[in-house]
Amino acid sequence: GSTIGILGGGQLGRMMSLAAGRLGLKCHIYSDVRGPACDFAAASTIAPYEDTAKIRAFAEAVDVVTYEFENVPLEAAAAAEAVAPVRPGPKALEVAQDRLAEKTFIRDLGIPVAPFAAVDNAASFDAAAAGIGGAGILKTRRLGYDGKGQMRIASAAELPGAFEALKGVPSILEGLVPFAFEVSVLVVRGVNGETRFYDVPLNTHKEGILDTSTVPSPIPPAHAKRATELAAAIADALGYVGVLGVEMFYLGADAPEPLVINEIAPRVHNSGHWTQDACLVSQFENHIRAVAGWPLGATERHSDVTMTNLIGADVDRWAALAAEPGTALHLYGKPEARPGRKMGHVNRIRPRSA
Ligand code: ATP
Ligand code: MG
Ligand code: MG
Repeated sequence: GSTIGILGGGQLGRMMSLAAGRLGLKCHIYSDVRGPACDFAAASTIAPYEDTAKIRAFAEAVDVVTYEFENVPLEAAAAAEAVAPVRPGPKALEVAQDRLAEKTFIRDLGIPVAPFAAVDNAASFDAAAAGIGGAGILKTRRLGYDGKGQMRIASAAELPGAFEALKGVPSILEGLVPFAFEVSVLVVRGVNGETRFYDVPLNTHKEGILDTSTVPSPIPPAHAKRATELAAAIADALGYVGVLGVEMFYLGADAPEPLVINEIAPRVHNSGHWTQDACLVSQFENHIRAVAGWPLGATERHSDVTMTNLIGADVDRWAALAAEPGTALHLYGKPEARPGRKMGHVNRIRPRSA
């Protein structure tokens, strides 16, 4: 196909469109708001995701449909799929939209996840608290991101208050994972089932939002390999096509189970933005290649790199960052630097060490 339809109009869609442009492909955005992706796409449709007639018309105008935003209603993906291939398929969307479905799916593959229990109402408090024991995190099943829609609890006694603070929506209670650090796997899977991986970054967070991703990470090579195998097992089980981000906790070399999956993102992922400047083919280009049915590109890393997100007022330092040697600056062109908003990122490149 030569025109890629993207559901979602944010910075991920923008960077996908830029990568597609290098390959001579065009993108058509469908989004419920006019976002940063619209500036670089050949066309954009701004309409509600619930407008299935518009979704259908959008799908008719493109060769394949993908998304940069996992909260697209399943009905929208289904409406598109009646007209054009949707990659990754609606199964990935369905699993990733709901933390209960996601954790259950991964656990049933025999892959470790944090202890979890559904919290739908006050009647589920006792069983959930008993299931995880002690401290935990209550997370809404749907629509949470950047640490929004979750509350830490120090003991079962805090569960009712946390549930109320989250407006009583269906949630899950997770046990706290005693991790040493966090990593992620960026796996790309082609239409023929071939999988390729980028190096596994170390991820740090600030106020619930990803702050930095660094490669190489301190994870021992055998465990990095294990991490990629777990991600591939998830991608295979979903019949996935495109880039999948898999967030993981690393518990240390001496832990009986060194890797525990946190969550998956059925799209390009913020912890893979470093691939733009440290690899020949970025996660964005590889996602486009995969969904377009192209051969996958090289995922090897040619440099060491730290990606740092520019959140809110961080972006005011853009001129100093642009002047800094060894630094590649990426700005999303968002009109207002509201607190907590992802405005851009910088990749600080160093010669490859290992
Ligand atoms: P994202 O922006 O990555 O989608 P999110 O809002 O979906 O974030 P999570 O990834 O579930 O939130 O959690 C955010 C962070 O909180 C994690 O990266 C980790 O640092 C911490 N965290 C989440 N769950 C647990 C857990 N069960 N045990 C320990 N720490 C946790
Ligand atoms: Mg998330
Ligand atoms: Mg997360």
